[in-house]
Parts: sequence; C-alpha cells; structure tokens
Amino acid sequence: MSRIVCLALAGFLASTCAFAQTTKNKPFSGAAALRFTGRAVAFGPRPDGSPAIAKLRAWLRTQLAGCGCELLSDAFTAQTPDGPLPMENIIAKFPGHSGRAIAISGHYDTKKMNGFVGANDGGSSTGFLLELAAALKNRPRKDDVYLIFFDGEEAVREWTDTDSVYGSRHLAEKWAAEGLTKKLKALINVDMIGDRNFRLTWEIDSTDFLREMVWDIGDSLGYSAAFPRHGGPVSDDHIPFLDAGVPALDLIDFESQSSFWHTPQDTMDKLAARSFEITGKVVLLALERLENQQ
Ligand SMILES: [Zn+2]
Repeated sequence: MSRIVCLALAGFLASTCAFAQTTKNKPFSGAAALRFTGRAVAFGPRPDGSPAIAKLRAWLRTQLAGCGCELLSDAFTAQTPDGPLPMENIIAKFPGHSGRAIAISGHYDTKKMNGFVGANDGGSSTGFLLELAAALKNRPRKDDVYLIFFDGEEAVREWTDTDSVYGSRHLAEKWAAEGLTKKLKALINVDMIGDRNFRLTWEIDSTDFLREMVWDIGDSLGYSAAFPRHGGPVSDDHIPFLDAGVPALDLIDFESQSSFWHTPQDTMDKLAARSFEITGKVVLLALERLENQQ
C-alpha cells in the first residue's frame, strides 16, 4: 500500500514516502524464530514446577518488553495428579480500535521426561510467537491482537481431559467470564511447527472456515506440500476455545515428526528456519484477512 501511495505522490510528498520507507513492516523471519527457539531450548527441560520454566517466563517478559504491546499475565494454581502447580499464561496484547479481537497462541511448557528439551514440542511455538511479536511491532491494528504463550499444555502424567491443556482451559474460562471470548473472531494455535520435514495436519475438529482460509493461503503462497488436505482430530490448546464458542484452528505437524515426538531426540537439529517462515507468512496473511472481516 505505501509503495503505491509513494508512486502516486512522487515528487509531491517525498518526506511522506521516506517516512513510509522507514516504518515498513518487518517481515516474519524464520531464521529469527529458529534463534528464539534455540534460546528457549537452552533453558533445558521446562516442565511446570521446574526452576527452568520460571527462568523462561522471566526471559519471555524481557523479550516482549520492547514489543510495543501490553504485557498481561494469567497466573493460577493448577490442580494436577502430582498436586498443585503454579502456572502462568503470558499474553502480549497489540491494541486495535474495532472492539473485536484475534488470538494467536502456542505453548511454552515441555513434557516432564528425563532429558526432554522439546525443541519442536514447546520450543518451536515459543520461538514462533516471539518472532511474531517482533513482526507485529508498530503495525497498525484494526482488531486487538493477543499473542498467548500458554502454560501447562502437556499432561503432568498421561493425557486426559483433566490432565492436559491447563493454561488454555483456564484462560478460556476466564475470558468467557469477562466477555472477551465473544469479541474473538478467531484463535489460531501453533504447535510443533519447526520440523524440517514440515507438513501440517488437517485438524478436523478445527473450525472449517478458518482451516479452509489458512490452507488456501498456504496454496496461494506455493506451500501446498506443507498443507495436505487430510488428517484427523488432534487434542490441543484450541479445544477449550472451541468449547467456549470461539472459531479456532490448530496448526500442528503431527505426522512427520512422530519418530522423535516426546523423546529426548526432540532437539534443535530436527528444526529448520523454513518451516517457521512458512507458518509465519501464512499466519500474518490470515491475520490480515481476519481483520478485514467484520
Ligand atoms: Zn507434547
């Protein structure tokens, strides 16, 4: 848009064009998202209740401090099979003016297992959201955009409805009570999006129009191989928001990484910047389309 304006006004408003140049939106960088992921993974295993996850939270806050966003916290005590555990969803709010909102989310905790650092599972969503925050900085918004770093996605023991997605269940309930879920046009959750053999799962419980929109964007950008139109149900952080009546989509590569999923082999060497970049470009375009919808 700014380029067209500059061409049309060439010679008349040179200073306006210079301003447009300097405020050009930062594109989403897959390489930067990968670097953020590496720094999160360097904290070591990050299960709830560990000193490492507390350090990671503090680091996330410092990383987000300069994002031009409002930092919100949803801290609570989760009742788990291992007893009460402190948890905290960390939320970066980029304010708009329409009265509507869009949420992009992912989890930052890792499964409690010896030697499990969760580069893809827990790390990639963290790095992705940090780079998305950098890309959203200074962009004009219509809708409020919330970037949500969910805590407690992983089961403390075995995955059940009550031992999983602690953070998203807590926030969906809180936002429903506050009337915020009614303002949400959509929630797009990302999980395990860094695998170098990147292929998203066509998650069938996700809201149809959102999945179609995002898959169509993937096709239009030439990424059809990463957007196959087959899959199945995946239980993840989008479900509590679907249950609360919010259109929601899970972007998860649940197929190609099955060889190292929930094993100590989920390490940085399995990831590629390109996978983050594909997801980032597609999510930014989806955000734009959603903002242009009433
Ligand atoms: Zn997991």
